[in-house]
Amino acid sequence: MFELLTPRRWAMALCTGAVTALVCLTGCGRSSTNDLVVYSARVEDLIKPLFDRYSKETGVPVRFVTDDAAPLIERLAAEGANSPADILLTVDAGELWNAAERGLLQPVASAALHSSIPASLRDPKDRWVGLSVRARTIVYSTERVKPEQLSTYEALAEPQWRGKLCLRTSKKVYNQSLVAMLIAQHGEAKTEELVRGWVANLATDVFSSDTLLMKAIAAGQCDVGIVNTYYFGRLERDEPGLPLKLFWADQGSGGVHVNISGAGITSHAPHRAAAQKFLEWLATPEAQSLFASTNLEYPANGAVQADPAVLAWGDFKPSPMNVAQAGALQAQAVKLMDRVGYR
Ligand code: FE
Repeated sequence: MFELLTPRRWAMALCTGAVTALVCLTGCGRSSTNDLVVYSARVEDLIKPLFDRYSKETGVPVRFVTDDAAPLIERLAAEGANSPADILLTVDAGELWNAAERGLLQPVASAALHSSIPASLRDPKDRWVGLSVRARTIVYSTERVKPEQLSTYEALAEPQWRGKLCLRTSKKVYNQSLVAMLIAQHGEAKTEELVRGWVANLATDVFSSDTLLMKAIAAGQCDVGIVNTYYFGRLERDEPGLPLKLFWADQGSGGVHVNISGAGITSHAPHRAAAQKFLEWLATPEAQSLFASTNLEYPANGAVQADPAVLAWGDFKPSPMNVAQAGALQAQAVKLMDRVGYR
């Protein structure tokens, strides 16, 4: 029912399209089928079960290509009106913001999306919508840190954490979005001071992944760090009993930094109406539950409960800021991190 387009098949499909375009002057669409095509920065394991279910329920086949968001966005831009893609799916609001600003997504006026997804997780201009919530918060060693010592992202810049902080690389979009949201909350000058303090507190070089960072805390290389909670959930599942715990940051102030995995309809979607139906289905309780739980994330639809393993971490107050800020301030965040030597 649904198939992965391998690079070779993709090239063949594009070539066929090119030849067809030369032969036919009219009446030759980009797609002769009803297949929906999704360009996805979310990996296959996390989308395939969902797409399979949709195909089974509706008879609409869903094809997809997975890659990082940046190449997918470049591909969309290069293909222009000839793109076979109906939907762009990413794992960061900043990427969706970027695609929308480049004119690659179109607005969708959908009462169903408005009623099921909170406004802070949607584009104010309706060009994309959050489908799951990813919380980025503090993780700590239960052997060397008491939760009373923790409070905010900002406090991790204080001298008491000198040589005790572990961070993932600033090249990762998750940290770029986090710093962008901190700029939105505190302003640039205060955020610069804050990130400078983090860098001064680093126990070791930055990590390439949240998981390696947590393993370093468990191994005693550092005491605290900042991670997306689903990585904590995966590690908890794969290596139970590690001396690590999550701490909800900024509960007395701005709230936990949240980002989204979300999607928008491409500007030249061959199946616009069908794409909207699919997006609306992805926001329903049935799909939301699967979308979030396969990666231990939080459903964007507030009426849907998270996975029991996720609920066990307790409730938290998320930042109420619109996640679009992550995109709007991302370039500024990258420059700021560069200035203070956050690698
Ligand atoms: Fe991730």
